[in-house]
Amino acid sequence: MYRRLHAHVGPWDMIVAGGGATGVGVAIDAASRGYDVLLLEQSDFGKGTSSRSTKLVHGGVRYLEQGNLSLVMEALKERGLLLQNAPHLVRNLGFVVPNYDWWEAPFYGIGLKLYNLLAGKYGFGASRILSKEETLELLPTIKTEGLRGGVIYFDGQFDDSRLLINLVATAYEQGATLLNYAQVTGFTKDTDGFVDGVTARDAESGEQFQAAGRVVINATGPFSDALRRKADPSAEPMIAPSQGIHLVFDRSFLAGDSAIMVPHTSDGRVMFAIPWHGHTVVGTTDTPISEPTLEPAALEQEIEFILQTASLYLAKKPARSDVLSVFAGIRPLVRSGEAGSTAALSRDHTIRIENSGLLTICGGKWTTYRHMAEDCVNQAATLARLPEKPCVTDHLNIHGFHPNSEKFGALRVYGSDAVAVQELMHGDPLLARPLHGDLPYTGAEVVWAARREMARSLEDVLARRTRALFLNARAACAMAPEAARLLARELGRDGEWAAGQVISFRETAAKYLVN
Ligand SMILES: Cc1cc2nc3c(=O)[nH]c(=O)nc-3n(C[C@H](O)[C@H](O)[C@H](O)COP(=O)(O)OP(=O)(O)OC[C@H]3O[C@@H](n4cnc5c(N)ncnc54)[C@H](O)[C@@H]3O)c2cc1C
Repeated sequence: MYRRLHAHVGPWDMIVAGGGATGVGVAIDAASRGYDVLLLEQSDFGKGTSSRSTKLVHGGVRYLEQGNLSLVMEALKERGLLLQNAPHLVRNLGFVVPNYDWWEAPFYGIGLKLYNLLAGKYGFGASRILSKEETLELLPTIKTEGLRGGVIYFDGQFDDSRLLINLVATAYEQGATLLNYAQVTGFTKDTDGFVDGVTARDAESGEQFQAAGRVVINATGPFSDALRRKADPSAEPMIAPSQGIHLVFDRSFLAGDSAIMVPHTSDGRVMFAIPWHGHTVVGTTDTPISEPTLEPAALEQEIEFILQTASLYLAKKPARSDVLSVFAGIRPLVRSGEAGSTAALSRDHTIRIENSGLLTICGGKWTTYRHMAEDCVNQAATLARLPEKPCVTDHLNIHGFHPNSEKFGALRVYGSDAVAVQELMHGDPLLARPLHGDLPYTGAEVVWAARREMARSLEDVLARRTRALFLNARAACAMAPEAARLLARELGRDGEWAAGQVISFRETAAKYLVN
């Protein structure tokens, strides 16, 4: 990627700052239309919010309740396209709303029928009312006291950072140049004061460089305001950052293969308990915060709130000691102009063009990243006076596309790449051994991440190429030395580097542990 960057002559058509779902989506869209695009990510791809979601590809039942039908319809269409273009990473999952009051079945039954109707030809399956017995069959570990029945509906589930890594590969295959560990530090401007490029820093070598672009796109999510102020120090903030956390437990808390959706928690939010990679993920919260950080920490009251709410619905009440991992993410919500609850702020995306010509895209959802990118590239191409070219991403297969990747078992998420990972295992049986008894990840995946997925640090491998840190933070710490040794060998680093990686990984992992 650095060779491509340094060999590049003249200005890029578009430069994108930020390597989350939004920025990488823009890079794919622009490159697949034939524009020449550079993307710079300050840390690892997905280090921000895009690896910390609830893992749902969904229309958003809650937005239906808020009456935001156009947002729901758009997201349901995108859900269908994502399943079509990345079937190795998205799956159809049944969500059961358990009913403990007589009115809940007809009320949610009608609402969820509408949800499916709005999906039209992109529907994931008809919702229906369940008897108490059917509810218990799907959710064998739900609290039975007072249970009357339930309603089932269908939505999508995915692995967020695996999708992002595959999107990076797709963008590259379409001709984009993408660098992780390259921070945009400022902007260059022409004689009229218009942004005409970026200054940036390679975090590994410390090298500073400049890149000229016909348009610069700020896709830095929760960090958008910091970059906007670099272009115009007087820019008013447009982001109201809000944190959400998830707790991860073992599978015994949610046996079966259906999720639970609780439409109204005591703070008026939606809560999910979802089976994910053989574990149970429960979340989320919505806590306004003052400043976004790259490694946000869960607050005590958020942990307690999720434990308490989960214990209202699960037969086996989860305790702090059952938490295998806790992760926090920051929503890049766009300010409504007035103070208030962030839960009520718009999940629609916003595109803003500053007087300096800097284009900022933020808000939205993971589910709608493709549509956001289409909108953004349309605007950016007009702003940069580039020749108009049509968007082609609605039918663009995402790297790893495989119609039947279940046959690869634990390697399903690699899709068509699974065969190459298996070959690494066959070539060296030591690489086929799991790195920890509680997780399926093998040495072959560390090697693959270093060779083919731009992993540069131990955390990249254990948090975002595999999901070890998110599933079981203690197990991730235990497998760190062996994973670091393999990574060091691949990257041509020595034992000292590997030892340093283990120390810094364990420091980060401490935030994912609940004491
Ligand atoms: C708790 C929670 C649960 C969610 N669940 C869901 C869900 O289930 N389904 C769904 O559809 N959506 C969900 N969302 C929303 C979704 O995750 C976000 O909308 C999406 O990930 C935002 O992506 P982004 O690229 O805009 O931001 P980010 O992923 O944060 O990416 C921004 C990137 O910019 C980088 N950056 C910052 N400054 C610079 C700089 N100066 N130079 C270079 N790079 C820089 C950061 O390092 C970061 O990687 C959830 C959000 C949260 C918080």
